[in-house]
Amino acid sequence: MNANCIFCKIVDRAIPGDIVYEDDELLAFNDVSPQAPVHVLIIPKVHIASVNDVPEGDAIVIAKLTTCARALAKARGIDESGYRLIMNCNAEGGQTVFHLHMHLLGGRQLRGLG
Ligand code: AMP
Repeated sequence: MNANCIFCKIVDRAIPGDIVYEDDELLAFNDVSPQAPVHVLIIPKVHIASVNDVPEGDAIVIAKLTTCARALAKARGIDESGYRLIMNCNAEGGQTVFHLHMHLLGGRQLRGLG
Protein backbone atom coordinates (compact mmCIF):
# COMPACT_ATOMS: atom_id res chain seq x y z
CA MET A 1 0.00 0.00 0.00
CA ASN A 2 1.28 3.40 -1.01
CA ALA A 3 -0.57 6.07 0.97
CA ASN A 4 -0.43 8.56 -1.93
CA CYS A 5 -1.55 6.14 -4.63
CA ILE A 6 -5.13 6.48 -5.91
CA PHE A 7 -5.25 2.87 -7.15
CA CYS A 8 -4.02 1.56 -3.76
CA LYS A 9 -6.90 3.53 -2.24
CA ILE A 10 -9.35 1.74 -4.56
CA VAL A 11 -7.82 -1.61 -3.53
CA ASP A 12 -8.31 -0.66 0.13
CA ARG A 13 -11.84 0.70 -0.49
CA ALA A 14 -10.66 4.06 0.85
CA ILE A 15 -12.18 5.61 -2.29
CA PRO A 16 -14.86 4.09 -4.51
CA GLY A 17 -14.09 2.21 -7.67
CA ASP A 18 -16.41 0.62 -10.22
CA ILE A 19 -14.96 -2.83 -9.58
CA VAL A 20 -15.68 -5.54 -12.14
CA TYR A 21 -13.30 -8.29 -10.99
CA GLU A 22 -11.28 -9.19 -7.92
CA ASP A 23 -9.13 -12.07 -6.73
CA ASP A 24 -6.31 -12.42 -4.22
CA GLU A 25 -3.78 -10.69 -6.45
CA LEU A 26 -5.66 -8.56 -8.96
CA LEU A 27 -8.37 -5.92 -9.12
CA ALA A 28 -10.16 -4.68 -12.24
CA PHE A 29 -12.39 -1.60 -12.43
CA ASN A 30 -13.93 0.61 -15.07
CA ASP A 31 -11.88 3.62 -16.10
CA VAL A 32 -13.38 6.84 -14.73
CA SER A 33 -12.83 8.50 -18.13
CA PRO A 34 -13.61 5.76 -20.64
CA GLN A 35 -12.11 6.05 -24.11
CA ALA A 36 -14.21 3.23 -25.55
CA PRO A 37 -17.44 1.36 -24.67
CA VAL A 38 -15.27 -1.12 -22.78
CA HIS A 39 -12.44 0.52 -20.84
CA VAL A 40 -11.29 -1.49 -17.86
CA LEU A 41 -8.11 -1.10 -15.82
CA ILE A 42 -6.52 -4.26 -14.45
CA ILE A 43 -4.01 -3.82 -11.62
CA PRO A 44 -2.01 -5.90 -9.18
CA LYS A 45 -3.14 -5.28 -5.61
CA VAL A 46 0.46 -4.84 -4.55
CA HIS A 47 1.90 -1.41 -5.32
CA ILE A 48 4.30 -1.46 -8.27
CA ALA A 49 4.87 1.98 -9.79
CA SER A 50 5.38 1.08 -13.43
CA VAL A 51 6.52 -1.59 -15.89
CA ASN A 52 10.07 -0.43 -15.10
CA ASP A 53 9.58 -1.44 -11.47
CA VAL A 54 8.37 -5.03 -11.99
CA PRO A 55 11.11 -7.20 -10.46
CA GLU A 56 12.48 -9.67 -13.03
CA GLY A 57 11.49 -12.56 -10.80
CA ASP A 58 7.92 -11.27 -10.60
CA ALA A 59 7.40 -10.76 -14.33
CA ILE A 60 4.55 -13.28 -14.19
CA VAL A 61 2.41 -10.42 -12.88
CA ILE A 62 2.32 -9.09 -16.45
CA ALA A 63 1.02 -12.45 -17.69
CA LYS A 64 -1.62 -12.44 -14.96
CA LEU A 65 -2.83 -8.98 -16.00
CA THR A 66 -3.03 -10.18 -19.61
CA THR A 67 -4.89 -13.37 -18.70
CA CYS A 68 -7.37 -11.38 -16.62
CA ALA A 69 -7.85 -8.83 -19.43
CA ARG A 70 -8.47 -11.65 -21.91
CA ALA A 71 -11.11 -13.19 -19.66
CA LEU A 72 -12.81 -9.82 -19.16
CA ALA A 73 -12.80 -9.26 -22.94
CA LYS A 74 -14.53 -12.60 -23.39
CA ALA A 75 -17.03 -11.82 -20.64
CA ARG A 76 -17.87 -8.51 -22.30
CA GLY A 77 -18.24 -10.19 -25.69
CA ILE A 78 -15.40 -8.38 -27.45
CA ASP A 79 -12.92 -11.24 -27.69
CA GLU A 80 -13.83 -12.07 -31.28
CA SER A 81 -14.46 -8.51 -32.52
CA GLY A 82 -11.14 -7.45 -30.98
CA TYR A 83 -9.68 -5.27 -28.30
CA ARG A 84 -6.50 -3.46 -27.28
CA LEU A 85 -4.29 -3.89 -24.23
CA ILE A 86 -2.11 -0.92 -23.25
CA MET A 87 0.46 -0.36 -20.52
CA ASN A 88 1.79 3.18 -20.46
CA CYS A 89 5.17 3.74 -18.84
CA ASN A 90 6.39 7.08 -17.46
CA ALA A 91 5.87 10.56 -18.83
CA GLU A 92 6.44 10.15 -22.56
CA GLY A 93 4.51 6.88 -22.50
CA GLY A 94 1.51 8.78 -21.20
CA GLN A 95 1.42 7.25 -17.73
CA THR A 96 -0.48 9.45 -15.30
CA VAL A 97 -1.17 7.03 -12.42
CA PHE A 98 1.96 5.44 -11.04
CA HIS A 99 0.53 2.09 -10.03
CA LEU A 100 1.05 -0.63 -12.63
CA HIS A 101 -2.07 -1.08 -14.74
CA MET A 102 -3.22 -2.54 -18.01
CA HIS A 103 -5.94 -0.85 -20.05
CA LEU A 104 -8.49 -3.09 -21.77
CA LEU A 105 -10.16 -1.11 -24.56
CA GLY A 106 -12.80 -2.32 -26.97
CA GLY A 107 -16.36 -2.22 -28.17
CA ARG A 108 -15.65 0.09 -31.12
CA GLN A 109 -13.17 0.30 -33.97
CA LEU A 110 -9.92 1.53 -32.44
CA ARG A 111 -7.51 3.58 -34.53
CA GLY A 112 -4.03 5.01 -34.22
CA LEU A 113 -1.54 4.64 -31.43
CA GLY A 114 -1.01 8.30 -30.59
P1 AMP B 1 -2.44 6.05 -17.54
O1 AMP B 1 -2.51 7.32 -18.33
O2 AMP B 1 -2.00 4.87 -18.37
O3 AMP B 1 -1.64 6.20 -16.28
O4 AMP B 1 -3.93 5.71 -17.15
C1 AMP B 1 -4.50 6.09 -15.95
C2 AMP B 1 -5.98 5.92 -16.11
O5 AMP B 1 -6.57 5.93 -14.84
C3 AMP B 1 -6.67 7.00 -16.92
O6 AMP B 1 -7.31 6.41 -18.04
C4 AMP B 1 -7.67 7.62 -15.95
O7 AMP B 1 -8.89 7.97 -16.56
C5 AMP B 1 -7.84 6.50 -14.95
N1 AMP B 1 -8.22 6.89 -13.60
C6 AMP B 1 -7.70 7.85 -12.83
N2 AMP B 1 -8.30 7.89 -11.63
C7 AMP B 1 -9.23 6.89 -11.64
C8 AMP B 1 -10.19 6.42 -10.71
N3 AMP B 1 -10.30 6.96 -9.48
N4 AMP B 1 -10.98 5.39 -11.06
C9 AMP B 1 -10.88 4.84 -12.29
N5 AMP B 1 -9.99 5.23 -13.21
C10 AMP B 1 -9.18 6.25 -12.90
